[in-house]
Amino acid sequence: MNIILLGPPGAGKGTQAARLQATRGMIQMSTGDMLREARASGSPIGLKVKAVMDAGELVSDAIVTALIGERLDSSGGHGAIFDGFPRTRPQAEALDILLSERGRTLDHVIELVVDEDELVRRITGRFSCARCGAGYHDTFRPTKVAGTCDACGSTEFIRRPDDNEQTVRTRMSEYRAKTQPILPYYQERGLVRQVDGMAGIDEVAAQIDAALDGTSR
Ligand code: ADP
Ligand code: ADP
Ligand code: ZN
Repeated sequence: MNIILLGPPGAGKGTQAARLQATRGMIQMSTGDMLREARASGSPIGLKVKAVMDAGELVSDAIVTALIGERLDSSGGHGAIFDGFPRTRPQAEALDILLSERGRTLDHVIELVVDEDELVRRITGRFSCARCGAGYHDTFRPTKVAGTCDACGSTEFIRRPDDNEQTVRTRMSEYRAKTQPILPYYQERGLVRQVDGMAGIDEVAAQIDAALDGTSR
């Protein structure tokens, strides 16, 4: 099964993708994570995308599409969870080609619906483990023991430089202008399942599972 998690910044895509990866043996393909890795390694792509990401604008379609193609080739046929990709109509069309070239199809597009004010609260409280990448929130998903990662015990955490209120507004307007308009492309094919992203993490997870297993009410 190959699925897209579609939703604005802070909607919960990464949180749910990590859970699906752990529970279903699928592979999370986050272009945001791939781009941050490229930046951290100082690769030519990383240098090229730095300013664009820090401003909250979208990186070029060619770069992210190439990253996804490479990841599909190394995914060994496991189902893919596309997290933060596609974000534009050209990316959506490129994904169809990448999948069909590999004899794969898209099964579901899960749309996470969340209010803008809630998104700002989520993003400004987001942090993650510096060692294993586990994601947390100051209020909504704190570590069980203060200052210690639940998953790996590390005591070092990071916050993304683009997780500030100013950049979040730009990222949201990019979402409205370029990403939201790709929904009809998938609605026409009957692939979109709406999930109430305002619910708690476990309830969102249950709604996604019901959509994927075809047991939605
Ligand atoms: P969030 O999870 O908060 O929506 P991401 O980690 O997915 O953010 O993306 C962070 C930044 O990386 C984006 O603001 C954008 O600059 C860049 N980026 C990630 N994925 C894409 C994509 N598919 N197309 C263009 N830019 C992307
Ligand atoms: P995205 O990948 O869509 O940008 P994340 O999964 O990183 O979003 O979630 C953004 C922040 O909100 C994180 O700090 C996460 O712990 C928290 N979060 C995720 N889902 C929920 C939820 N359903 N309710 C409350 N907080 C959430
Ligand atoms: Zn950790």
